[in-house]
Amino acid sequence: NQLIINKSKCDHTGVHFPTYVRKQLKHGIVHLSVGNFHRSHLAYYMDILASDYEQTEWGIIGIGVRSVDKPISTVMKTQDCLYTLVSKGTDKTDINIRIIGSLTDYIFAPEEPENALAILIHPNTKIVSMTITVSGYDLDMNHPDIQHDLQNSDKPKTVFGFLVHALDARRRNNDKPFTIMSCDNVQQNGEVTKKCILKFVQHLNNAELLEYIETKVTFPNAMVDRITPATTDTDREYIQSHYGIVDGWPVIAENFIQWVIEDSFCNGRPPLELLSSSQYNVLLTEHVEAYECMKMRLLNASHTAMASLGFLMGYTYIHEIISDQYIKTYIKRLMYQEITPTLPPVPGINFENYKQTLIERFSNPHIKDNALRICMDGASKFPKFIVPTIMEQFKRGNNPHYCALAIGAWIRYLGGYDEQNKPIILQDVVATEHKLDKLASKTILDVKQILNVQQVFGVIGQHQQFTDDVERVVKLMYEIGSKETLKYWINEDV
Ligand code: NAD
Repeated sequence: NQLIINKSKCDHTGVHFPTYVRKQLKHGIVHLSVGNFHRSHLAYYMDILASDYEQTEWGIIGIGVRSVDKPISTVMKTQDCLYTLVSKGTDKTDINIRIIGSLTDYIFAPEEPENALAILIHPNTKIVSMTITVSGYDLDMNHPDIQHDLQNSDKPKTVFGFLVHALDARRRNNDKPFTIMSCDNVQQNGEVTKKCILKFVQHLNNAELLEYIETKVTFPNAMVDRITPATTDTDREYIQSHYGIVDGWPVIAENFIQWVIEDSFCNGRPPLELLSSSQYNVLLTEHVEAYECMKMRLLNASHTAMASLGFLMGYTYIHEIISDQYIKTYIKRLMYQEITPTLPPVPGINFENYKQTLIERFSNPHIKDNALRICMDGASKFPKFIVPTIMEQFKRGNNPHYCALAIGAWIRYLGGYDEQNKPIILQDVVATEHKLDKLASKTILDVKQILNVQQVFGVIGQHQQFTDDVERVVKLMYEIGSKETLKYWINEDV
């Protein structure tokens, strides 16, 4: 019931194993929705604390909340929750392999909701962390699963149902609550999570619970960073052939890592100050908002802007996209001319260095980050990563030329066919809900109507010059193709 490991090959290649007794780890943390990012970030940090600093309080129990988590649940259970983390720098030889042991158990909630709830209620659980993707925070109170969770407290189906009913049980037991720690790319992720939780509780008619959450539960805001692609069969084969490890779900990530978090934990926290060196980049601060703003507007916005454009130009991976000279020029101008002027100063950060490092990180050819991963859920990403920059530029009386290209390319992508007329499979909850794919299809293309969808674009549809520009981009995309449109748009600014 473990990873299959060729020990001599692992020793020979310098694979790092847990140096602690995993059974002795307490489950100080329960994590909801164990995806690749959690396994390259928080679980890695807790593995370092256990390995290098003999911390035994901060083991993690993972909960798979949705039925789509069945495959990873099967792998995690088969491997006793052990897995391989491979971090790769831009230099081919800069590779680090680590077997992560901090995840000690995994519960697949759709099949055992009572166990998932029980572990959340258990007083040893001090922090509940989550990575539920950006679209997970678009809470729809009419969704059947949310409606189910409002009526049923013993077998919830959603993250918010689990959190709220577990907190209510702890309140009734006179136990301390747990900290709710979002690790998603959402500006003010703690505040946003709190709003979702309170919105849910307001439908329960439970004033004591409302007060308990408002006064006793904390929701630290955090900026999280480590580019972590989805795992492929090639990764599985690579790990087996190079290191002699048969792992059903290894994680590949870049070697860069960062976590900036508010020191706001209602029931204790790991000694994160031990991870403050530049190798681990953990910072406890009251100024998270400025870091979040920088990271989301520079990294996530550039990623989002280049992904659909690069995909339409025929590229598969982010490193291929950023090595196209026209795209590199475009992304640099977007960052330097339109995004950077909107950023508040960030203590200790030189934006120049930060942007250069970003271009290097995007260019890392060894992690093979698929553009389609970034394209996914664009309708939840644009409002959080790009629209705020556009609004800031409007306030300054500017018409952000390069942001218009990002939106235009995405609308062309939503049209459903690439430039070879092959169908694009859209994975985008909010876009589908608002029928953006239908509105963007070539036959009924209506850019202005798309830009008027406020959940995605706020009020930018009311800005005539900007909407005209987006319309021009989409038209050009269909007439002369994405590459020529990009060249034209770059030249138009000169
Ligand atoms: P992943 O696809 O490996 O895992 C996503 C997990 O989220 C799955 O378990 C899935 O079931 C769950 N999920 C999706 N929608 C949900 C919902 N509505 N409610 C509950 N669970 C839901 O993805 P990942 O790489 O782990 O990324 C997850 C999130 O982590 C990102 O969306 C982002 O917010 C954050 N993040 C990722 C990276 C990265 O490079 N991958 C970097 C920084 C932050």
